[in-house]
Amino acid sequence: MTTPLVIPARLLPADGRFGSGPSKIRRAQIDALVEAGTTVMGTSHRQAPVKSLVRRVREGLAELFSLPDGYEVVLGNGGSTAFWDVATLCLVREKAQHAVFGEFGGKFAAATSNAPFLADSQIISATPGTIALPQPADDVDVYAWPQNETSTGAMAPVRRVPGDGALTVIDATSGAGGLPVDVSETDAYYFAPQKSFASDGGLWLSVLSPAAIERAAQIESSGRWIPEFLSLTTAVTNSRADQTINTPAVATLIMLADQVEWMLAQGGLGWTMARSAESSSHLYAWAESRDWATPFVETPEERSAVVGTIDLDAAIDATEVVRVLRENGIVDVFPYRKLGRNQLRIAMFPAIDPDDVRALTDCIDYVVDALA
Ligand SMILES: *Cc1c(COP(=O)(O)O)cnc(C)c1O
Repeated sequence: MTTPLVIPARLLPADGRFGSGPSKIRRAQIDALVEAGTTVMGTSHRQAPVKSLVRRVREGLAELFSLPDGYEVVLGNGGSTAFWDVATLCLVREKAQHAVFGEFGGKFAAATSNAPFLADSQIISATPGTIALPQPADDVDVYAWPQNETSTGAMAPVRRVPGDGALTVIDATSGAGGLPVDVSETDAYYFAPQKSFASDGGLWLSVLSPAAIERAAQIESSGRWIPEFLSLTTAVTNSRADQTINTPAVATLIMLADQVEWMLAQGGLGWTMARSAESSSHLYAWAESRDWATPFVETPEERSAVVGTIDLDAAIDATEVVRVLRENGIVDVFPYRKLGRNQLRIAMFPAIDPDDVRALTDCIDYVVDALA
């Protein structure tokens, strides 16, 4: 392999970022960052300019998700991974049930299972490429599952399990903003800014129900030791004042606020969902029409509209395809590392133009043909 394989310029997407997180950030968000450069960047997060940024994020998300009465948008530092610890400490009273069908769902299940103050978690698992659903159980007080399993490209419905008293805690890190949701079916719908919200990482955001806020208050007053950084009630108090407990990444907030307002200006969640659905219907139809490509998720309704996984025939080395695409400016379409499949994984978050997804599949056709 000495002569580099050059994809003709006419086939290339306008933007070559298809990574599943960090993901494509729109040019206008970078412009917003530059504009806020000297007025907001490098200024105190306890003063009006940064606090109004946090308020824009909270109010924008409240509108985007049509928040039911009493629900609140809460945020803190540390990304979704930190929220797993927050939820383990502040939302699970005695026992959690997890539906696990990939790496991310598995990590939260491990967090609650390893907590010495909780009973062993109940884990309902399914093989990667399929989904597991929660099942009614009398002894669990939290049901948890990912809306979109970013490691496999499978998505699951977000619907409460019948019964009283248990909280529904949904990992929407990659699903929020691009997949449909009725947040009244959840008590904590949490995510981070570096997926559909096209910003940088480092924050967690969670739409909380009154029951979740109440549960956190009860647990924290019960005497359980909770590090302040991971306290949900502390996060709620700070969020209500448009702050975080410690210094946030201001650039992340600027790009996040811009993305949320862009989504609203385009038509809100209905528009973003339709845009991701347009990209993903194209991707899956394309894969089905090639005899060397197959959608990894077999059941069509479980195929994610925001993260598509496409298996390639064993005769085609996906690593090689990924490498050639990268040399041509199309980046991050490798599969989730631990899945270990001969696969391409393609993000189709709302920031990604469906025309670019169409261009990408043309480029893949070109590369596969050239490598043959
Ligand atoms: C990316 C991702 C996470 C981890 O998010 P961080 O902000 O990096 O902690 C968790 N869950 C899902 C479903 C993800 O896609």
